[in-house]
Amino acid sequence: MFDKILIANRGEIACRVAATARRLGVQTVAVYSDADANAKHVAACDESVHIGASAPKDSYLRWEKIIKAAQASGAQAVHPGYGFLSENQDFARACAAAGLVFIGPPPSAIAAMGLKSESKQLMDKAGVPLVPGYHGADQDPALLQREADAIGYPVLIKASAGGGGKGMRAVEQREDFAEALASCQREARNSFGADAVLIEKYVQRPRHIEIQVFGDTFGNYVYLFERDCSVQRRHQKVLEEAPAPGMTPELRWQMGQAAVAAARAVSYVGAGTVEFIVEQLADGSMKFFFMEMNTRLQVEHPVTEAITGQDLVEWQLRVASGESLPLKQDQLSITGHAIEARICAENPDNNFLPATGTLDIYRKPACSSFAISPLRFDDGVRQGDSISPFYDSMVAKLIVHGDSRAQALARLDAALAQTHIVGLTTNVQFLRQIVRCGSFATAKLDTGLIAREAAVLFHQQPVGLALAAAADVAQTLLDERATQTADPFSQTDGWRSHGVCERRFEFEFDGEQVHALLSYRHDGSLHFQVGQSAGLLDFAATPQGIDLRYAGRRQLVHVYRKGEVAHIHCAQGATQIIAIDLLLHAGEAHADVGRLTAPMPGKVVSFAVQCGDTVKKGQILAVMDAMKMEHTIAAPIDGVVAELLYAPGDQVVEGAELLKLVLQ
Ligand code: ADP
Ligand code: ADP
Ligand code: MG
Repeated sequence: MFDKILIANRGEIACRVAATARRLGVQTVAVYSDADANAKHVAACDESVHIGASAPKDSYLRWEKIIKAAQASGAQAVHPGYGFLSENQDFARACAAAGLVFIGPPPSAIAAMGLKSESKQLMDKAGVPLVPGYHGADQDPALLQREADAIGYPVLIKASAGGGGKGMRAVEQREDFAEALASCQREARNSFGADAVLIEKYVQRPRHIEIQVFGDTFGNYVYLFERDCSVQRRHQKVLEEAPAPGMTPELRWQMGQAAVAAARAVSYVGAGTVEFIVEQLADGSMKFFFMEMNTRLQVEHPVTEAITGQDLVEWQLRVASGESLPLKQDQLSITGHAIEARICAENPDNNFLPATGTLDIYRKPACSSFAISPLRFDDGVRQGDSISPFYDSMVAKLIVHGDSRAQALARLDAALAQTHIVGLTTNVQFLRQIVRCGSFATAKLDTGLIAREAAVLFHQQPVGLALAAAADVAQTLLDERATQTADPFSQTDGWRSHGVCERRFEFEFDGEQVHALLSYRHDGSLHFQVGQSAGLLDFAATPQGIDLRYAGRRQLVHVYRKGEVAHIHCAQGATQIIAIDLLLHAGEAHADVGRLTAPMPGKVVSFAVQCGDTVKKGQILAVMDAMKMEHTIAAPIDGVVAELLYAPGDQVVEGAELLKLVLQ
């Protein structure tokens, strides 16, 4: 085994590799960019080396720097993680030339599998089934058109050098082929620097099922069963599970044999994944075709670890240091069911637009990290960290394991409910919607699942107004009690010696303005009316959250405030609500009525004033569009507009100052 390795990556995978290395007594060297100077992966390693500016091309892709860092630190081997340099044969060669072990396959295997078209020709020879299609070198558009016609529509045009779901075009009919080809080639040239394409039959309602393989330097091969990665958005995986629902032992064996044949054909060493597209036939049987081989550890490897009880990074390190495979095929078996959910900084309701921000609140379910367990949370971030635009939007992976798929699903839903992230838009609620939707729950899996279930996946409001408003008011009252002194005249509990004291609130929730009334009764109880709901309100702060009782229901809620927005988390899901306390504002007790900052992330619609304008208190200055409704920004004081800091149409983050107002 090595004494020291360098991890040429960042984020969760760098932390994950470091954890296994540490367990094996192997020292680790991290590399980091400017943006990652204080990143979790740096702290997870024994030493670290700065390798450049934040953009990947200036740091994580600069292999001369990385190799120098490995040599200077005395590392014997380099683990590339996934992405970045992991499938770069030149990097693998440069490592070897520098006397470093590349923890991955030989460069020749990376090269053989690097191009989709060439790897398909190779697989064809090895007897691995292929999707009917054209994988030839001749790229004459007229020839490509004829090949597509012969395959029959719909077809899929794929960039041969493509990856990460990019460079693919489905073509429904003959007339659209030429245009789709041109557009695919353009994208391929821009993204991968090469415009060669292949054409495949477009499989209808297919499943993506891949086989984890492992080889050692003695020519031994095993497969560690399959993963179903059919739940995808933009041809990218969202949820992955193992074993694949509906898989039969015979089909598993056949796919395993095909995957091992693929690995053997390129003299593969280390961890690799053979991806298959699986056609579901009318009689319920499944037919599989080779799609591509990923010559690295995959993002979704933890589900395989969960069902086999094996640490794949440990296997990688053992094989790379010259040991033989830890187990033989007949020593491997499947226990239970595992599912992984990718937690990404993105807005599913806005076409999965990647998001940036700061993890103001980052609360995880009680679980272990980087260890095989029923609940595993692998991440590369901590509370307070910023998610920059430089890197992949995936911030964490939640992996659950259970005796059955149903148990794993229930654990996943509960764990997602306990994952609270404020300050960064994520897909956590969207993942919960998938987990709970009929198709997923009953394992009707295919790559069209998200599109088919769109009506129940997007723009959902899992938490009702009554609960959100009651939780927000409870938090307000708890905050007031916390700051209250023993002086009876400064008490804010609303108690009056005569009559009932009432307090009005105005909420902005799910695009609507709603009034609410809180009544303090003689007996000390609280009555709260909002929307269609009315009832007694009672609550207590507990270490598990607010124990909230309202209108006959009782549940635990968490309320996190960020600016004016309250983020409410409870078992059903998370939502946001804004409250304006009219009682406090009416007396003008607070001088900061009104705001010059964005109450939440959104878009500037217009400014009602110009630089230099004199404005009166309360005058409308700007209009913003956020949370599906318009918000006006009014002047808190009489003053002069000194500067407009944004332009109409600009996207702004929560708390962004929109304009400067100075006293006259
Ligand atoms: P996989 O099956 O492993 O997800 P993909 O072809 O989807 O295979 O590529 C890996 C994914 O990981 C891509 O979405 C890519 O953008 C992402 N990725 C690559 N490098 C990193 C990294 N260093 N950190 C986080 N994500 C990464
Ligand atoms: P990438 O390198 O981007 O991962 P793949 O060839 O692995 O590209 O394909 C990615 C995804 O595209 C698959 O998981 C599947 O959803 C879809 N796909 C690929 N080939 C086909 C096909 N022939 N028919 C239907 N869908 C396909
Ligand atoms: Mg793929």
